Amino acid sequence: MNSKHCEWCGGLSSSYYYRFVINPLQIILLDSPMIHSIDKENQVVTLKNGEKYDYSALISPDTAAGYNEIFPHIFCSEKCEDTFVERYSIIYRKDVTVISLKDEGIFNPVVVPVEHINYNNDTCKQCKNNFPNLNKRYIHIKIVSKTIQKANINDKPDLSKYPVVFSDMYHGKQHGNYYLFEIEHNKSTWGEAQFCSNECAFQYTIENDCIIMYKNNILEGSFCHVSPYTTKINEGLGNPYKYRPQKMSRH
Ligand SMILES: [Zn+2]
Ligand SMILES: [Zn+2]
Repeated sequence: MNSKHCEWCGGLSSSYYYRFVINPLQIILLDSPMIHSIDKENQVVTLKNGEKYDYSALISPDTAAGYNEIFPHIFCSEKCEDTFVERYSIIYRKDVTVISLKDEGIFNPVVVPVEHINYNNDTCKQCKNNFPNLNKRYIHIKIVSKTIQKANINDKPDLSKYPVVFSDMYHGKQHGNYYLFEIEHNKSTWGEAQFCSNECAFQYTIENDCIIMYKNNILEGSFCHVSPYTTKINEGLGNPYKYRPQKMSRH
């Protein structure tokens, strides 16, 4: 059976599907009285004060968005898509026309069906299946050494030897582990590959003793890591999604 885990709820599903998730840099409200004209062919909005704004796509009849990064992610159901979007939904003030989400540090994702985008069919390096892709790039880096250390939340890990560190401790859990990695520094040894899912990326890290870095639009557009310890870390954190990548904390 071909099943994958939902990137939002973590559930294993045989009816999973891909959606493209956009992390907009900027939103333009096209019904604003401040707008002079909208050039849909060249995707430029001109305001009455003469300012011009480019956009990447219309995301609804009266909303345009500018973005650079649009990544495929796996959901199990419309309910998961909806709760993901609702989690980050914001109310736009009526008197604004252009909202610079990136500049204001606001993550307000947009989810679109893959058929709406002119995508590529990439082949997963691990399972060899094709999947829809556009901008997603995975970097894999060889692990030189790795270890797990028992720790208290106030202990400091040895960052000089292990520049990549994850922890399964948080405010409500003062004792746990540090997961420490020394990685290959020479960037000419780093490789690039495509993976259909976090579970395939995880399997690849196990078989090749590497960590994988990529940008993730479910995790707020942040850089994140998959490593041979990913499932252990999520177990320690109590995350229902055992393949959830760790947000970047490289020192
Ligand atoms: Zn789900
Ligand atoms: Zn795969």
